[in-house]
Amino acid sequence: MQVPAQFQYEKATSVEHALELLAAYGDDSMVVAGGHSLIPMMKLRLAQPETLIDINDVHELARIGVDRDSVTIGALVRHAELLDSPVIGEHFPILHDAERVIADPAVRNRGTVGGSLCQADPSEDLAAVFVALDAVALIRGLDGDRAVPVRQFFTGPYSTVLDDGELLVGVRVPIHSSASAYAKVERRSGDWAVASAGAALRLDDGHVARAGIGLTAVGAPSFGAPEAEAYLVGGPATEERFVEAGTIAAEHCSPIADQRGPVDYKRHLAATLTTRVLRTAAARWRGHGNHEES
Ligand SMILES: Cc1cc2nc3c(=O)[nH]c(=O)nc-3n(C[C@H](O)[C@H](O)[C@H](O)COP(=O)(O)OP(=O)(O)OC[C@H]3O[C@@H](n4cnc5c(N)ncnc54)[C@H](O)[C@@H]3O)c2cc1C
Repeated sequence: MQVPAQFQYEKATSVEHALELLAAYGDDSMVVAGGHSLIPMMKLRLAQPETLIDINDVHELARIGVDRDSVTIGALVRHAELLDSPVIGEHFPILHDAERVIADPAVRNRGTVGGSLCQADPSEDLAAVFVALDAVALIRGLDGDRAVPVRQFFTGPYSTVLDDGELLVGVRVPIHSSASAYAKVERRSGDWAVASAGAALRLDDGHVARAGIGLTAVGAPSFGAPEAEAYLVGGPATEERFVEAGTIAAEHCSPIADQRGPVDYKRHLAATLTTRVLRTAAARWRGHGNHEES
């Protein structure tokens, strides 16, 4: 059985305390949240922190807060809590769609929003969701706070803009899309994505006033599809344009061949799934009693 290398363990009781511990233990320390990515990596000796700083008792990070224009999701909110939240379901159906297909209940009960984003796995579902929603990562260090659009949060596979000693404290999601959806193709239930796409649209009289598209597992730059978004904005929300947006999104992806499939298949999925989520989002908008003027 694989076991991690020896490490020290500290339990933070507040954000300030976690930041102090990070500063005290320096480069050789790592935060642990749900542990579903970090602990396997420690067992494989891909991560060997000398000190683990457990943030599971930092309750201020475990809240979902709502104001007039946005919803703030704390870094320690678990996948299962997002799935159970009526506020999230009401404003962001895309998040509920995604959470239903992330891993299995055991992982969803422990895994956190912050851990998922900070792990920055190229196949991670919430990255695509938060890119589509134009969310902002809220970061805190001993020197103060900064807010970084999730589109700029990832600097590469398993790499983010977080500096040593900083903590992701949450994600602020603007409530400016009227409809959204997420779809994923996986080899079996609970698996990581072969490819996934998310879309968040604001539609005015059947025209696209805002478009957010996120893609995962297909090598989309920063999990986004800005060219397809730009194509959609200002035009009618029609099937033909959704198909064309899918084609554009796929053209700008750089999938790699692996055990989940060859390049062409993943690129095909990127196009098909993008079209599908745009279609579903628009259908949901119409289903809420919104009808285009003829
Ligand atoms: C079997 C299995 C299947 C999975 N399937 C999927 C899937 O289909 N789709 C998907 O998207 N994910 C999937 N996951 C990942 C899952 O979503 C985990 O929740 C996620 O990897 C990490 O969350 P965590 O809270 O466990 O983070 P941890 O493992 O605790 O931490 C991960 C990394 O983030 C850092 N970190 C954590 N919190 C913070 C913070 N607040 N500030 C700064 N750094 C922080 C840690 O130091 C570490 O480097 C799967 C995981 C498993 C084990």
